[in-house]
Amino acid sequence: MIDPDLRRRWNDLAEEVRRHRDLYYNDQPEIPDADFDALFRELQQLEEDHPELAVPDSPTMEVGAPAVVSSTFDNVEHLERMMSLDNAFDEDELREWLTRTPSDTYLTELKIDGLSIALVYRDGRLERAATRGDGRIGEDVTANAKVIDDIPHELTGDDIPALLEVRGEVFIAVEDFDEVNELRQAEGGKPFANPRNAAAGSLRQKNPEDVRKRRLRMIAHGIGAREGFTPASQHEAYTALAGWGLPVSPYTEQVHSADEVVEKVRHWAEHRHDAAHEMDGLVVKVDSYAEQRALGATSRAPRWAIAYKYPPEEVATQLIDIQVGVGRTGRVTPFAIMEPVFVAGSTVSMATLHNQTEVKRKGVLIGDTVVIRKAGEIIPEVLGPVVEKRDGSEREFIFPTLCPSCGTRLAPQKEGDADWRCPNTRSCPAQLSSRLTYLAGRGAFDIEALGEKGAQDLIRTGILSDESGLFDLTEADLAASKVYTTKAGKVNASGRKLLDNLATARETDLWRVIVALSIRHVGPTAARALAGRYRSLPALIDAPVDDIADTDGVGTIIAESFRNWFEVDWHRALVERWAAAGVTMEESGEDLAEQTLEGLTIVVTGSLEGFTRDGAKEAILSRGGKASGSVSKKTSYVVVGENAGSKETKARELELPILDEAGFVRLLETGSPE
Ligand code: ZN
Repeated sequence: MIDPDLRRRWNDLAEEVRRHRDLYYNDQPEIPDADFDALFRELQQLEEDHPELAVPDSPTMEVGAPAVVSSTFDNVEHLERMMSLDNAFDEDELREWLTRTPSDTYLTELKIDGLSIALVYRDGRLERAATRGDGRIGEDVTANAKVIDDIPHELTGDDIPALLEVRGEVFIAVEDFDEVNELRQAEGGKPFANPRNAAAGSLRQKNPEDVRKRRLRMIAHGIGAREGFTPASQHEAYTALAGWGLPVSPYTEQVHSADEVVEKVRHWAEHRHDAAHEMDGLVVKVDSYAEQRALGATSRAPRWAIAYKYPPEEVATQLIDIQVGVGRTGRVTPFAIMEPVFVAGSTVSMATLHNQTEVKRKGVLIGDTVVIRKAGEIIPEVLGPVVEKRDGSEREFIFPTLCPSCGTRLAPQKEGDADWRCPNTRSCPAQLSSRLTYLAGRGAFDIEALGEKGAQDLIRTGILSDESGLFDLTEADLAASKVYTTKAGKVNASGRKLLDNLATARETDLWRVIVALSIRHVGPTAARALAGRYRSLPALIDAPVDDIADTDGVGTIIAESFRNWFEVDWHRALVERWAAAGVTMEESGEDLAEQTLEGLTIVVTGSLEGFTRDGAKEAILSRGGKASGSVSKKTSYVVVGENAGSKETKARELELPILDEAGFVRLLETGSPE
């Protein structure tokens, strides 16, 4: 008989571990990895002390190999096992390792914070791509790997081996992270905490077309099984890989003494943010394969390599206050206001605390000295309080019961939800102003004159009580506005621009209208698919939910969300009023551009005169082409505008066809630049 209290404690802990593990694998971790590890160890300890608790479905029995829990991908066995790396956490440990592995040539490589992948090339053709999994068995992600520009489908050059297993890291570059997160949010998802989660989540998506949009990159960092390829050293292998068209790291260096290795470690500790990708350490390898073989491996890691791990960059500061914000969907999120402090490359004064459960878990009080760091070096995160520094003046944060924006009583959407929402979706000023700015965004109606300030003004002055009246606005309506009129109450330049923008915005693509409705989970991808298939909003509203769910790239969750949205009276009224104001409700047939670019991948770099960045992309997509952010051998054309940089250089190196703006216009019209 197990003590019920013990049982309950185990149950709670197991629940927590399961929840956070799911969040982690869905790339929405709420807590830092270290906190998860602590939870997990606590559960393990409890089961060790009370073996009767260790039931077969305990999370301690299943963790560690996501391959086993995957239902989306097939499991495949690696040709050669993918080992882990031993770590060194300080210079002493590194020196010890260097003493054990005397050599006159080491390689130092940046440890990319991404996701490991193994590519199998047979006779030069990409046969398979698999995630690391538990090192023996990974997930087959071949279809997804094939849409990553850096991964060649076919090796080129001389002496291509009969078999080659390439190990590498898939990652999202720092410069692409924000954009990938915007896309994710536009599609209704929570932003990724860091590029590593973003890379992992992106590579493991079901639909390769979704993977393509995530701008994944890859760098090779080793080889596994091989036939017909016998390099003498690691760096010789890299040179060969590069010759066959595989990407290798520009940061890898050859050094010739232990002191030089230590010097590199110190150098990169100072320059962590200089690389194009996130890094969490420096990998040191003995270069010669003969020496590597002589050193051998333990059961889990090779003896000829070590990963020097840099400490996460953490600093302490004062938690001045905790306030709450109301988002577009009504979610009420507490956030920390801190004494500004410099951490990992920028000054930070605010950080999200996610929800009240998180505030409790972190145990922070207003007035505390708190430790913060940047998760993945980008998003600031409060780790917890420095309890010793308390002087008794700190106070607990009390989650508001009323919406700070409209005063409506807050409630969880479902029983037990950690997130609380303001149910006054229609006219809560905070929600309405975020919806207005969202629908005015470039991914929807593109109403340039309607920004955050303008939206708040239209609401505060009572000119708009929800978004339904937006397209009926007249000069007379704007008279009460502060943003859109002069002091004398006459419509100013911004006001005229707003009315002009509104007149143009009415005649837009149907998918943009669908995006503008702010329906949960219905982002640009789903909206495009729905508009393309039904070609009319009324037809779409009348369609059965199963039928909608059958649309490519839509599915049940989105279909149901769509249907639920239209069950709300004021939502229907809103669409009717927009329609009456002349907003597009049908996909106009003649506007559908000729699919001149089918099968072509086009990179636009530098600035063009006649196109914005998004406009050029849109022009390519609407004609059936692929718009890519990075140049590779698979790129069909590179369009070069003013101030193009490294992409142009790379295009010239690869001898790709380069077009100027005029050539681009011809290409759009005819499918050929001539
Ligand atoms: Zn509210």
